[in-house]
Amino acid sequence: MSAVSTRRIPHTPPPSFEGVAGELAVGTCGRGSGCPSPRTYLADGRRICWHRRAPDGWRLAIDAELTSQPVPPSLGIRVATTSPSEFWPAWTRTEVVCKLLDVPVLVWLTRHGLHSEPAAVRLHTVVTADGLVVTVGARPV
Ligand SMILES: [Zn+2]
Repeated sequence: MSAVSTRRIPHTPPPSFEGVAGELAVGTCGRGSGCPSPRTYLADGRRICWHRRAPDGWRLAIDAELTSQPVPPSLGIRVATTSPSEFWPAWTRTEVVCKLLDVPVLVWLTRHGLHSEPAAVRLHTVVTADGLVVTVGARPV
C-alpha cells in the first residue's frame, strides 16, 4: 500500500519573501519577550525578530548567524566543510527547516545532511552588509 499525503492545502498562498530585509529587527525589537514574531539569537546575544505575521495555514521560522564565526569543528567534520561562507548559509537553511518541521538539527544532519530541503518548505536567505546570514522560511501547516 502506498503512502498517501495527508498534508492540508493552505488556505492562503505562501508568504512572499519580498521586503524581508526591512522586517528584520536586529537587537532593536522593543517588545521584549512578549514579541509574537518568529525570532532567533545570534552568538553575540542579539535577538533578531522577523516582524511578519504568519498567513493563515502557514508556519514561519527564522535563523541567523554571524558570517565571521568559524565553523565549529564538530559540525565541520559532519558536513565536510570548514568554509564559513559555505557553511553558515546552508546551516541557517537547515535550522529553519528543522524549526518548521520540529526535528532536532543533529538528527536532521545525520539523516539528510546539510543540503536537503523538503519541497513543502519555502526558504529565503539574505547575507547582510554587516556580517549576518539570515534565513527565513515558511511551511504549510
Ligand atoms: Zn520583535
